[in-house]
Amino acid sequence: MKNQVLILGGGIAGLTTAIALQHKNIDFMVYEAVPEIKAIGSGISLAGNAMQALGKLNVADDVKARGHLITSMIIQDEKGKYLSALDTRKFIEEHGMYNVAIHRGDLHEVLLKNIPAEKMVTGKKVETIHETADGVVVTFADGSEQRGVAVVVADGIHSVVRKQLLPESQPRYSGYTCWRGVTANKWGINHQAVETWGPAGRLGYVPIGNNNVYWFACKNAPQRDERMKNFTISDLIKNFNGYAHPIPEIISSTPSENLIWSDISDLEPISRFAFNRVLLIGDAAHATTPNLGQGACLGIEDALVVADELSRNADPVAAFQSFEAKRLERAHFIVNTSYRLGKIAQVENKILAAIRNFVVKLTPQRVNEKQVARVLNIA
Ligand SMILES: Cc1cc2nc3c(=O)[nH]c(=O)nc-3n(C[C@H](O)[C@H](O)[C@H](O)COP(=O)(O)OP(=O)(O)OC[C@H]3O[C@@H](n4cnc5c(N)ncnc54)[C@H](O)[C@@H]3O)c2cc1C
Repeated sequence: MKNQVLILGGGIAGLTTAIALQHKNIDFMVYEAVPEIKAIGSGISLAGNAMQALGKLNVADDVKARGHLITSMIIQDEKGKYLSALDTRKFIEEHGMYNVAIHRGDLHEVLLKNIPAEKMVTGKKVETIHETADGVVVTFADGSEQRGVAVVVADGIHSVVRKQLLPESQPRYSGYTCWRGVTANKWGINHQAVETWGPAGRLGYVPIGNNNVYWFACKNAPQRDERMKNFTISDLIKNFNGYAHPIPEIISSTPSENLIWSDISDLEPISRFAFNRVLLIGDAAHATTPNLGQGACLGIEDALVVADELSRNADPVAAFQSFEAKRLERAHFIVNTSYRLGKIAQVENKILAAIRNFVVKLTPQRVNEKQVARVLNIA
């Protein structure tokens, strides 16, 4: 339909945008490449900024019910000695902002539940787009076309539309690779997100819903390294042998079919998100390394801003320009800060790591809180 906003991609950013447009009574249709959305994947942490945005869409309570509330964030060394411990209840008390960790499959189910089934088409892989005088035409891999009044592009870090609009923009490899897993929480881990920085790599774990624990492990490595790709649970146990309890046990109790491996990349900040009637959002616009746990959170924030702008501006070109003016600086701040934090967290040289740990330990709590407040977008 000509007056529809077309959303390309049914990931977290695309689905949240659909819900946000629905709240503003703006007609839309979601086009997703995969034939079927399955409840797979690992866990994800949704910080206060994302939960607040989901609250405005009336989906936060459902997310909270299926996830696990996190009230402290700990960074420790491999022996389990705390480098920093942040009590995040202050952000709940003062700003109503709480952090929830949830299985990605559960989050997707909650989002999908809030979108009428007929508003999403799967098995529709976008190939190209082109603008006309009064709209945008999207061409799919099956040869079909759809016309819309505007297009919100949420097709992820490898976005085909971004490649068409900004061919020079490329994912940037971080220098470390990552494994993720989910296992039953046999250790009573409660309300805590723990990250361990050590000479053999970094490992984080956090409780999620259904009494499970989600964990990730990052190790410095060349990009697309065959050895890393073939790492098994036993290789990871050997690698993290000697790390503080319950790290080795968490890894060893993880079913191998739950192990997910991927290199970590982001998108070097790009100078535009808005291209007349076409807008890049989510990872397609500003993929970040996961070190601040903000990639999906930013995409959720985007969804609210785009819906708000489209409801205030009759002209989508003006709406998208206004979106860009509001979002560029914040997205760049998160991407750049997360990239730098990753370099610090991934130091494997013992002397440099000792200096880093000393500095992190000395950092006053109020400095850590100020940084978290900026990440959460608290003015
Ligand atoms: C290890 C790791 C841990 C992370 N942890 C966190 C965390 O704790 N908190 C957090 O906020 N973020 C985290 N992130 C980041 C987060 O996963 C991403 O930012 C988020 O999933 C991006 O959502 P998106 O919808 O923009 O893109 P995607 O999730 O990539 O979704 C894009 C969608 O578009 C579809 N698509 C792709 N190409 C096409 C096409 N041509 N046509 C149609 N559809 C297409 C895809 O199938 C997909 O469904 C983490 C990332 C990693 C790698």
